[in-house]
Amino acid sequence: MCSPRHCAQQVNAGTVRLALVGDVHGHWSSEDAEALAWLNADAVILVGDFGEEDLELIYKVAVLQVPKAVMLGNHDAWFSLTARSRTRWHRGTQRNAVRLGYAGGVAASKGVEEDSQGSTCYDGVRAQLRALGNAHVGFGSLRVRAASGQELSIVGARPFSKGGGDARWRDVQAFYATMYLVQSPEESARRIVAEALLQPPGAPIVLVAHNGPAGLGSAQHNICGVDFSPNEGDHGDDDLTAVLRELAAAGRHVPLVVFGHMHQQLKGGGQRDMVAISATTGTVHLNAAVVPRGPPGAWRVVRKEALLRSADSGDPHRLVRRAWHAFSREWEPVVSPRL
Ligand SMILES: [Zn+2]
Repeated sequence: MCSPRHCAQQVNAGTVRLALVGDVHGHWSSEDAEALAWLNADAVILVGDFGEEDLELIYKVAVLQVPKAVMLGNHDAWFSLTARSRTRWHRGTQRNAVRLGYAGGVAASKGVEEDSQGSTCYDGVRAQLRALGNAHVGFGSLRVRAASGQELSIVGARPFSKGGGDARWRDVQAFYATMYLVQSPEESARRIVAEALLQPPGAPIVLVAHNGPAGLGSAQHNICGVDFSPNEGDHGDDDLTAVLRELAAAGRHVPLVVFGHMHQQLKGGGQRDMVAISATTGTVHLNAAVVPRGPPGAWRVVRKEALLRSADSGDPHRLVRRAWHAFSREWEPVVSPRL
């Protein structure tokens, strides 16, 4: 297999090379940064759950010297997202201040301020967002010009999603109202659609989310299926489904949706389907949440690389699917930053 740098010189016009990093969950080292730089992708997409509001890890991601689009996940709002988690924060404030380094005196040194209610339970989230700046694409976007000359728009869905669709909105409504002034799933969808429609018509849109859309199956092995309850069910997000529906109605094709959150390894045993292709729109849905990222000692940096052709050149689906299988097979180090 050719090296990524060698392949990059051979890509056809219209090809975009993306490196995808699934849920990190605390496993990050300097090798990760080295490998991402070595891959020389047109963009690196990281789909969140770096740790439990792990600001130190986010600082390392923020300084990666690669073009990157970051989507923060529900674990990145571990002490903030729900009433239950905020209670957890308040009970453990002093312990968290020491362990997480963003509250009290430690926080002051990093410029973390209290909010208007005098509560600091959102400080960890705000500090992460400040550290990432424009690299965080939640409710935003990032435009990429690939080495091939192809332009691409990466549009971010609702950040910090814990999944479960509209039925679970009540759990998180205070968080989104405070952090984003978003009051409902419908408002979330409208905001994402508005951002997508701002993108240049000639640039394919890649949607990046933490959790995938609803409607892709309700069995536990489905790409967003519930595996933590014997009842199974669809754990996808309804607002993201609405976004895809509205963009299709507006004539904007979305060739690829990338997300994580629902791990490949199922809780009851077995493995999740990590690719789903819409029969109606042809959109490829790619779940990158392979956790952990590899056996100890293995090259566990970038789990797969998706080659994506633009909507009007070639068959994007076949390429994405082939790349997925090539890079996820037994976690072999098919490319190595140490060659
Ligand atoms: Zn998650």
